[in-house]
Amino acid sequence: MLRMPKFELERPASLAEALELLADASVESLIVAGGTDLLPNLKHELFTPARVVSLERLGELRGMRELEGGWLAIGSMTRLDEVAGDARLAARAPALAQACSLVAGPQLRTMGTLGGNVLLDTRCQWYNQTYFWRAALGFCLKKDGSVCHVVEGGAKCVAAASNDSAPALMTLGAELVFVRAGGRRVVPIADLWLADGAMNKKLESGEILTEIRLPPRGAGHRGAYGKLRERGSIDFPLLGVAARLELDAQGAITEADLVLGALAARPVRVRRVAEELAGLRASSNDLDAALGRVAQLAYKQCHPLPNVPGDHEWRREMVPVYVRRTLDAALARQGPVRDA
Ligand SMILES: Cc1cc2nc3c(=O)[nH]c(=O)nc-3n(C[C@H](O)[C@H](O)[C@H](O)COP(=O)(O)OP(=O)(O)OC[C@H]3O[C@@H](n4cnc5c(N)ncnc54)[C@H](O)[C@@H]3O)c2cc1C
Ligand code: SF4
Repeated sequence: MLRMPKFELERPASLAEALELLADASVESLIVAGGTDLLPNLKHELFTPARVVSLERLGELRGMRELEGGWLAIGSMTRLDEVAGDARLAARAPALAQACSLVAGPQLRTMGTLGGNVLLDTRCQWYNQTYFWRAALGFCLKKDGSVCHVVEGGAKCVAAASNDSAPALMTLGAELVFVRAGGRRVVPIADLWLADGAMNKKLESGEILTEIRLPPRGAGHRGAYGKLRERGSIDFPLLGVAARLELDAQGAITEADLVLGALAARPVRVRRVAEELAGLRASSNDLDAALGRVAQLAYKQCHPLPNVPGDHEWRREMVPVYVRRTLDAALARQGPVRDA
């Protein structure tokens, strides 16, 4: 049986109190939101903080509110099932609602939060294991060791960004609001990531993610999320595909974006998608061929590694399949895409 290690649990009743606790550099602290990833990681001794600061009582971090200029703010402690089931989001950010609807299983979506999903630690089949298992292997670069078992001789960890919401939020141009004692910063989500699986986010000490902000989108906004996984009822992604299209009043594509997750330490944006699709209408004879070219672009630019379970060569073959299905679903205002 895996045991929870000892730590001091703080349950502040206000954001100010939480920030004050986190500002105390004399105690190594970690934040817990829903705890659905952090608690298993603590049991696996991947982290050994002296103190855990829970955001559970901070009601101000829950729910959604409209901002000036048509932006929508989602509190970081908003549960994944609330995001997945919100009618507003289904219309204005379908890729995000669909991605959240496919995270883990129903119980975990009831506990897990959007903020926790955005800030999820990277995953690797050689890392998300018990201490005993990792010790038997001689540990690895990301924790307690000096070698990588995925890339022989690799100097950098390539554990995967496996958070389903991240590719969707990237296509949506989301911004993240971080607050710390005496400071605040707003970061476009595309600028959050580092290409290093040991720590794939640029975070400052003692800061809390308070809001995820979505820019306004017009009536021609289309989006969808596709997820490849072993067990449709619960697993992390073997591949995640988020697509965004913007159509003008005549139904022609004016913008397009495609971001894939679970490949590398950061979500991967496929290049030259907008150029291939610009100006095409759903009724155009050229659209089918252009979508096929986009699927091939993704195939050429994406190279899954044996960092997460599943045959990585098969995962690569599934890249164009899932890209095409997800783009089709976005155009048809359907999704999510989930069957292999
Ligand atoms: C069996 C199983 C299956 C899963 N499947 C999936 C899956 O398919 N897809 C997926 O994306 N995830 C999956 N997860 C992981 C997890 O359930 C989700 O990612 C969930 O959204 C994490 O949110 P949380 O609130 O529980 O985060 P926590 O576990 O509480 O925290 C996660 C990380 O974020 C930090 N953090 C959380 N909130 C904040 C904040 N507001 N400010 C600063 N730091 C913060 C924590 O310190 C921690 O490092 C799975 C987990 C399990 C156990
Ligand atoms: S990618 Fe390599 S270093 Fe990173 S967690 Fe996996 S085995 Fe460890």
